[in-house]
Order: sequence, then structure tokens, then C-alpha cells
Amino acid sequence: MNKVSEAAAILGRKGGKAGTGEAKARSREWAQAAAYARWGTLADRFWEKVKKGSPDECWLWTGSLFQPQGYGRVIVNRKRQKAHRVAWEITRGAIPEGKWVLHKCDNPPCCNPAHLYLGNVIDNARDMMERGRRKGPIGTEHPLAKLNTEKVQQIRAARGTIHKIAQRYGVADSLISRIRLRKSWKQV
Ligand SMILES: [Zn+2]
Repeated sequence: MNKVSEAAAILGRKGGKAGTGEAKARSREWAQAAAYARWGTLADRFWEKVKKGSPDECWLWTGSLFQPQGYGRVIVNRKRQKAHRVAWEITRGAIPEGKWVLHKCDNPPCCNPAHLYLGNVIDNARDMMERGRRKGPIGTEHPLAKLNTEKVQQIRAARGTIHKIAQRYGVADSLISRIRLRKSWKQV
């Protein structure tokens, strides 16, 4: 039985009397079933759009992105949502009020739950400031970006200034630095 029919089966059962242990167990089951019903098919659809790598790699959202921030964009319940937040909800549960889902990897399109953490508004502001200071192009590690494995190898071998190389490949200087320091495109 798949998750959705399982959920439907549980939802279809009659509840016990309120206040009894049985009723409490039922309501717990009901809450789990509701979560499955809500996320079951969505989760499958969601992960199809994520390029999963090894557990410590960034798992990049391959669908459209919010610009200029570069977060993955996904429509859930007819609303545009940030993909990494949905990744959190699918794998870890609801996001507590007032909490932000932040990236340890500083890679906005990343949806690897292991790279995400809950922070407050101050953590978020600090992350944004750090990102702003680096002026890194956002979303360049996205699969639809301008670079590929071959170009990355060429960039690592290229001579000339960072700026010249960046211009040649139509990307930001900071990305060239990150590639050369193996902070970006580590897998190549
Ligand atoms: Zn990541």
C-alpha cells in the first residue's frame, strides 16, 4: 500500500470516544495520516526536481528559482514557496513560527536537509549580510547555470587574471575564485 492510500485508509476509520486512550492514539494516527496525505505525493514530486548527491553534497533544486536570491521555487497549495523550506517540512516537520530555514552551505538552491538549520531573524540577517559581502553570484551552481564539468576543468587550468577568466566564461569573479579554491564544483 502506498502512503496516500494508507493515509486514506486511516482517515476513513471511525474515531473512538473522546478522552479515551484509544481516541488519543487515533488522533495521533490521524495527524500522521494527514501529514502523509498532505506531503505523500508532494514529496515524490518534490524530490524529482532535486538533484540528489551524496549525503554531504549540496542537493540542488533543478526547477525555477526565486531571483535574485536564488532559492528554489516550488508551488505548493497554489502558493509559491521556497524549495528548501519545503524540503525541511517534508523531512523534519513544520517550521516553528518565527523560525527561518537557513543554509549551512550558503548555497540558496540547495535542498539537502543535512545542510539546513533553523535560525531566528538575527541569524538570517547575518547570513544575508555575509552573502552580500561576498557578492557571490547566486544560483550559479544551479544545473542550468553557465558552467559544466569541462568548463570548470578549463577554468582550473586557465592562465590570466581571475577577472579575465570570469569575463571569458560570462560569470562573476568570485565564482572563479570559489572554483579554484574548490569551494564550488568540488565534485569536478
Ligand atoms: Zn548545501
